Amino acid sequence: MTARVGIVGGGILGMTLARRLRAAGHAVTVLEAAPSAGGLLASHELGGHRWDKFYHVVLPQDETLLALLDELGLTSELEWRPTRTGFFVDGQWHSLSTSWDYLRFPPLGLLDKARLALTILRAAAQRDGRSLESIPVGEWLERWSGTATYRRIWLPLLKSKLGDNYRQTSAAFIWSYIRRLYRARASADKRERLGYVRGGYARVLDRLEADLRERGVTIQVGVRVAEVRRRDDVEVVAEDGTIHRFDHVVLTVPTPVVARICPALDAAERARLGQVVYQGVVCLSVLTREPLAGYYVTNITDDWVPFTTVVEMTSLVDRAHFGGNSLLYLARYVSRTDPWATRGDAEITTEFLGALERMYPGFRRDQVLATRMARATDVQALSTIDYSATALPPLTTSVPGVLVLNTAQIVNGTLNVNETVSLVERHLPEILGRLTASPTPALAAV
Ligand SMILES: Cc1cc2nc3c(=O)[nH]c(=O)nc-3n(C[C@H](O)[C@H](O)[C@H](O)COP(=O)(O)OP(=O)(O)OC[C@H]3O[C@@H](n4cnc5c(N)ncnc54)[C@H](O)[C@@H]3O)c2cc1C
Repeated sequence: MTARVGIVGGGILGMTLARRLRAAGHAVTVLEAAPSAGGLLASHELGGHRWDKFYHVVLPQDETLLALLDELGLTSELEWRPTRTGFFVDGQWHSLSTSWDYLRFPPLGLLDKARLALTILRAAAQRDGRSLESIPVGEWLERWSGTATYRRIWLPLLKSKLGDNYRQTSAAFIWSYIRRLYRARASADKRERLGYVRGGYARVLDRLEADLRERGVTIQVGVRVAEVRRRDDVEVVAEDGTIHRFDHVVLTVPTPVVARICPALDAAERARLGQVVYQGVVCLSVLTREPLAGYYVTNITDDWVPFTTVVEMTSLVDRAHFGGNSLLYLARYVSRTDPWATRGDAEITTEFLGALERMYPGFRRDQVLATRMARATDVQALSTIDYSATALPPLTTSVPGVLVLNTAQIVNGTLNVNETVSLVERHLPEILGRLTASPTPALAAV
């Protein structure tokens, strides 16, 4: 039985789902609000070069993503490089890229380092993090790493990544990060190895979009969905009043958008969706003449620095792609109430570049060729205490024919493209089952 399926949201999740549903014979339409598809993976132009708005890397263990790239014929366009990680603590730079760096890491004494190593090994060895959902992240880290390391390293990192939201975040959050990064260092020398597709995610999105259109998927961009409601069909009403009709609709947008555009959800569903706490991000792309320190990521614990992460993309991507220049990202993770979320681009740019000059004696503002700001509000659903029991949004809704599949349903993992694509693969059998069943209220209530 062929169903007419509407997918709201043309990010990697919506587009991957579209590919799978089309392969199963359904008539699929993707409705995307932005002028082009891609969502968080979209690119922008910076000083005459095009690259991702937000920094992205592929890890060697991203098996589901690598399989998708292979299906799209992009395996030969993957580049892998050893990379380095930096730490900026008390105004000093430290490399934390090899076991030797770790042994030398001056901010911690030998015993503290041993406990930190134990924390990392313990997290890396645990396969399922759900049992950690009931433990506050701070409590767990202090228990395993000790109070000194917690105060000196972990707490500043938690505050910089999560702001005050760290208090309601569970240990499953840090477990999933440690595990992912540890596995990126799978080689015998424990060196980190990261990858990217030549041309960045713009290349992946172009290929995926062309592939979908070739297979007969309709992609409509510039369609901001204002309401999804059940009449004889599922009606999707765009902001301009146009109505699109389907047998089934899958919402891949963030949870607050689901609650807003689906007024028929009942009170219990709304309450649950309201439990999901998101972090957003403000992220400045900087094209500059000179490289910085050569670390892919620098973690920052000093609280006077207004951004929480420096990513030197050209420590991974060939500088030739940027005319011999360097591409940096300066990112600050923000909650909805963080004043930085509403500051203007010019003000943030001035503060960020000023701080960068203080951090890197070799960096000068007059080396900057171009800057560009990117922002996103509902990026990462935090693993709050007892997330699976209290907040995790279900696939089905009480509105017949309306399903939800979004990254707030990632448990046991961090937010990344591999986990996002894996969500599709994991839920596909159930979604296909629902598309071929009639969307009666009884079914939808399951
Ligand atoms: C700063 C940053 C760094 C990251 N680094 C990495 C990394 O190194 N490696 C990695 O693997 N992953 C990384 N990620 C995560 C990765 O970007 C996400 O996992 C992935 O892009 C999520 O895709 P999605 O389709 O679920 O969501 P989105 O890309 O958010 O897609 C949702 C889509 O819905 C659309 N939409 C919203 N409302 C409406 C509406 N009303 N009507 C119609 N459409 C609507 C949006 O425009 C958007 O296109 C990073 C993300 C960020 C922000």
